[in-house]
Amino acid sequence: MAEAPTLVVGGGLAGIAAALRLRDSGRPVVLLEGRPRLGGAAFSFTRGNLSIDNGQHVFLRCCTAYRWLLERIGAQDRVTLQPHLEIPVLRADGRAARLSRLPGLPAPAHLGACLARYSLLRPADRLRAIKGALALRRLDPSDRALDERTLGDFLRQHGQNDALIDSLWGIVATATLNLDPDEASLALAAKVFRTGLLDHADASDVGYAAVPLGELHHVAAGRALAEAGVEVLLGHRVESIEPGGPLRARAQAGERRWLAADVVLAVAHREAFAAAPALADSRAATASGLGSTPIVNVHVVYDRAVSRLPFAAAVDSPVQWYFDRTETSGLRAEHPDAQYLAVTVSAASDVVEVPSAQLQARFIDELQRLLPAARTARVLDSFVTREKRATFRQAAGSWAMRPGADPGIDGLWLAGAWTDTGWPDTMEGAVRSGISAAEAVLRRPVRQTSGVAA
Ligand SMILES: Cc1cc2nc3c(=O)[nH]c(=O)nc-3n(C[C@H](O)[C@H](O)[C@H](O)COP(=O)(O)OP(=O)(O)OC[C@H]3O[C@@H](n4cnc5c(N)ncnc54)[C@H](O)[C@@H]3O)c2cc1C
Repeated sequence: MAEAPTLVVGGGLAGIAAALRLRDSGRPVVLLEGRPRLGGAAFSFTRGNLSIDNGQHVFLRCCTAYRWLLERIGAQDRVTLQPHLEIPVLRADGRAARLSRLPGLPAPAHLGACLARYSLLRPADRLRAIKGALALRRLDPSDRALDERTLGDFLRQHGQNDALIDSLWGIVATATLNLDPDEASLALAAKVFRTGLLDHADASDVGYAAVPLGELHHVAAGRALAEAGVEVLLGHRVESIEPGGPLRARAQAGERRWLAADVVLAVAHREAFAAAPALADSRAATASGLGSTPIVNVHVVYDRAVSRLPFAAAVDSPVQWYFDRTETSGLRAEHPDAQYLAVTVSAASDVVEVPSAQLQARFIDELQRLLPAARTARVLDSFVTREKRATFRQAAGSWAMRPGADPGIDGLWLAGAWTDTGWPDTMEGAVRSGISAAEAVLRRPVRQTSGVAA
């Protein structure tokens, strides 16, 4: 009798992490992905000769699980990780500042020094900001009561005014929680600020891919999975998973059928219910209320360099962040003088349905306000990418809707950045969820079957 395989459904970061963790422990694994590529919500596509990321993806030094995955797939050298936090912040009135840490200062002194030098805030507000940071540092992210409040509510209670929320807290919170501070869960915000900024001085050093995302999450991950001996089947959308019976779970995709000991369902929450209707009556049923929030990226290619910064955040502007994509997209090789900036708009409910031409005009205009050199540059190309369901809606009250890896259905395990990882819907959360689901499978005794039925 052969050892029954574990099916991993979904080839995003959660599924990739789960498959590798299981295979590294000696389990036979089949990974089924509906799309023709791995990487899920963090992917690239081509436009002409350029490689375009569907949205800029950033991680922090504290993202230990995602960094583990990068290492596991041999891609740790294909990302840039700042030696110390340095975020340029621009304002449309021409003022600029930096959120940066002085190397060598321990937490929380590093933050005091950072905020004391943040010149976009008046000196009195810098003091208030330090008090706000210390109040956030006292929060326990594992306290479920925090999830009943919003970050905005907490910040105002601790003396943080609109200027502080817009020019400081919102820069980080909106990007990481994909929601306005006035809606975002205080528990998730506490996780972001404590783990990402306040507890360890180097935690918030910023990292991002130095190559198109597809090179990491599709090519490098695909190679690592193959080398590990995971059978990866792309273009295989699982239509139904029926738990129960002696083989615990079966999955069907098109004409093929698999019999498996365990199924790790590593798909987005809305897709999980479609693939496994039994979830609607399980302890994961609450996840049907999680909702989602969009992210929009506006991409602009100029005929010349308009910014010397690798990335910047902006305040008093609909441009929340922009990233220089010239090198990674391949533009440099094609047009050595040109520059490609990708503008990220998180919590994009207000703009996600705006027609592309309008968005392009608005953001090209905004970039001209922020970047004087853009006023005389010619736009060679611009386009919009929209991810209508980029993340789950990380609002106050969302914690209770996030199930753990075990929905209480024999043989079926859940992974995905939306599950209860304690982290926001991020690459880090996705990898952690995959590892948790794999470990739940590994805690059960190995089961035998007569093999995979095709
Ligand atoms: C535009 C954008 C910007 C973002 N920016 C950041 C950022 O800066 N930093 C950060 O950390 N995170 C960011 N995120 C979030 C991050 O991308 C996600 O949290 C993470 O990729 C989710 O991974 P996952 O594996 O949980 O789910 P997914 O990536 O959604 O993967 C699920 C996979 O399952 C497949 N699938 C679904 N149904 C089936 C089925 N029935 N059968 C087979 N396969 C199926 C899907 O095709 C998909 O590949 C961003 C997301 C977006 C969209």
